[in-house]
Amino acid sequence: MADGFLNRHGVKTVINVSGTMTALGASRAGPSVANTMAEVLPHFVRMSELQAAASRLISLITGAQAGCITACAASGVVAAVAGCMTGSDLSKIEQLPDTTGMKNECILQRGHAVDFGAGVEQMIRLSGATCVEVGSINACGAYQVEGAVTDRTAAAVYVVSHHTVQSGLVSLAHFVEAAHCHGVPVVVDAASEYDLTGFLAAGADIVVWSGHKFLGGPTSGIVAGTEELVRATYLQEHGISRCMKVGKESVAGAMTALEDWQERNHAAVRAAEDARIAAAEQALAGLAGLATAREEDPTGNPITRLRVTVDPKATGMSAFELSRMLAAGDPAIQVRDHHVDRGYFLLDPCNVTDDEMTTVCTRIAECLLRPTAVTTPTDNLADLRAGALRSWPQ
Ligand SMILES: *Cc1c(COP(=O)(O)O)cnc(C)c1O
Repeated sequence: MADGFLNRHGVKTVINVSGTMTALGASRAGPSVANTMAEVLPHFVRMSELQAAASRLISLITGAQAGCITACAASGVVAAVAGCMTGSDLSKIEQLPDTTGMKNECILQRGHAVDFGAGVEQMIRLSGATCVEVGSINACGAYQVEGAVTDRTAAAVYVVSHHTVQSGLVSLAHFVEAAHCHGVPVVVDAASEYDLTGFLAAGADIVVWSGHKFLGGPTSGIVAGTEELVRATYLQEHGISRCMKVGKESVAGAMTALEDWQERNHAAVRAAEDARIAAAEQALAGLAGLATAREEDPTGNPITRLRVTVDPKATGMSAFELSRMLAAGDPAIQVRDHHVDRGYFLLDPCNVTDDEMTTVCTRIAECLLRPTAVTTPTDNLADLRAGALRSWPQ
């Protein structure tokens, strides 16, 4: 059992009320995914044949001409941008990241140059491409996308994410129109989006999702698009993608997660998640110094989260301090803490059980009874997080 293994090595499990986070092991894969992975592990298969089966399944589900599985969404973006530069020319694939003789510019709206745990812009550069950022952080027009196209433009990347600036930027439809009128293919990073068909329908040439976010698969990426570009993406396995290789167990696990997704009763899952949020709202209602509000997912994924705002004067602690106490406690609890420097965190209902959500609320109440004397300033959140990273493995 996993608990046995984790115990033996002194690793704690974490109650994940933050959504799907790579730093917490991504998702809680269900038994069908785990069983499939165990089923294929003892066997040899031709990976090209397994990936061709994945291509058929991805086509069926997304409506794309073809698809493949990558190590993760980030590696899917790297390989897709690489594919836009090399096509299926193996000599070019082997030449990367040296792009001499290839179109090597990749357009990205500045408001899409986000950090999802690493930077989108770095993923583009990792392929060997030069990232050409257009517009301002909060304003970009299709004319600026078109104005950035040169005879060296190989691709344009569009990011759909709660991390990006949510207004003032070019919509996907206009972005695609601007790119396509110059023959530039559009790669969409839709890593944590539920929509498996809309971006392709809007004209994207290649779309990348995480297999381990809402899909609940193993760590993996799902790529769908035109046959030509998906082939060029897949063939990077003979070049730069070799060091981001996906194994047979992950391809099989991601395929099973896709099949499960098609069969899932989405309305029932949503209702259970909403009930969890309602329960948390009620449990936290009486606590002095806390205010709660429901928040819809910014990109339209069907998720309602609970925003918990902490009044430092009334509670004697900041949202950051409270989230840190929850993380350090037993059981360890991770809240969605992107905006603790704004005085709040979110509770995400997708990866917790009803009992775990009850535990989270009980623990919040307990922490509020024991404010610490420290109040860490949060005007430098990125530095605080970097500081914590530097002490690994301690
Ligand atoms: C999570 C995320 C990624 C990375 O996905 P992985 O599958 O973990 O590599 C990339 N882009 C965006 C917008 C994300 O949210």
